[in-house]
Amino acid sequence: MATEQLVDGFGRVHRDLRISVTDRCNFRCTYCMPEEGMDWLDRSELLTFEEIERLARVLVERFGIDSIRITGGEPTVRAHLTVLIEKLAALGTDLAMTTNGSTLRLMANDLCAAGLNRLNVSLDTLQADRFLAMTRRDDLDKVLDGIDAALDAGFDPIKVNAVVMRGENDDELVDFATWARDRGLIMRFIEFMPLDADEAWTNRQVVSLTEIVETIGAVYPLEPVERTSAPASRFRYLDGSGEIGVVASVTQSFCESCDRIRLGAEGQFRNCLFAHDELDLRPALRGGGSDDELADLFRGVVADKWAGHQINKVHFIRPRKSMSQLGG
Ligand code: SAM
Ligand code: SF4
Repeated sequence: MATEQLVDGFGRVHRDLRISVTDRCNFRCTYCMPEEGMDWLDRSELLTFEEIERLARVLVERFGIDSIRITGGEPTVRAHLTVLIEKLAALGTDLAMTTNGSTLRLMANDLCAAGLNRLNVSLDTLQADRFLAMTRRDDLDKVLDGIDAALDAGFDPIKVNAVVMRGENDDELVDFATWARDRGLIMRFIEFMPLDADEAWTNRQVVSLTEIVETIGAVYPLEPVERTSAPASRFRYLDGSGEIGVVASVTQSFCESCDRIRLGAEGQFRNCLFAHDELDLRPALRGGGSDDELADLFRGVVADKWAGHQINKVHFIRPRKSMSQLGG
């Protein structure tokens, strides 16, 4: 039973841990990775499953972290991922994963059996030619089939994440709503954030929460659901056919209720997606540091958390890492 909470200087209690298990990916989405791909981390740089489990255990047992999300790069390209899932599931928290869905036909049953509770699948278009242009992979059918496989495996609900970009897929909002309602999936629309590897983001490409909700609500009337600490603002269909969410990091930042901390694939601990600093935990982990010392490092990083990102301010400086290295 945790005896302490991870509280920052603004009184925010941290309960949600995001773990990136690799920086590698089999896709190269235009808003996330450069066309030429990245220089992948050397495998010896990556935390081992035992190291990840130890850090997660300290966070759960000492500080009451109650939600863990596995992400990447693409988490399913990490070999033997189900072994890690079994270890993390044994900690007893809610355990979720964000994936591009391309390997779910092969993996969904094993992921479920290993103890994964929830899945988010990223899908930004329902049109094959656009999918190829946006991900640089001709894999739309594979992802759609992967979502079916995840439904068959019993994941419920499945959330589908779509990054909405002006002039690229903003004409598909209603198509996505219709498609998801028909299948019992929950759409999560994400405002495009300045974390693209090419650093080409501009505010003009952002499609706002207001526009997304008005566009879908005009066809399928919606009402707001009361907000929690979760990043998405939620809206339910008045006809009872489920809900949508919008992650409005750009136009309606939710920093004041943020309860997330992040562990990078090579052991970098950060207190915010947009933070400029992160702490390398490997020297403590690999140099014989005790659990008490790790707990002190966690306390220190969280205590230093800022009030929030400044995306819409002139002095905003984006972090050096892009989304594929940060995990979303
Ligand atoms: N590869 C997995 C996937 O695509 O779901 C997990 C990692 S990916 C970086 C996590 C999430 O970040 C995905 O939902 C992706 O769409 C989102 N994402 C990537 N780049 C983004 C950006 N510049 N703005 C907003 N969301 C972004
Ligand atoms: Fe890979 Fe996910 Fe980034 Fe696309 S969004 S390039 S699938 S890490």
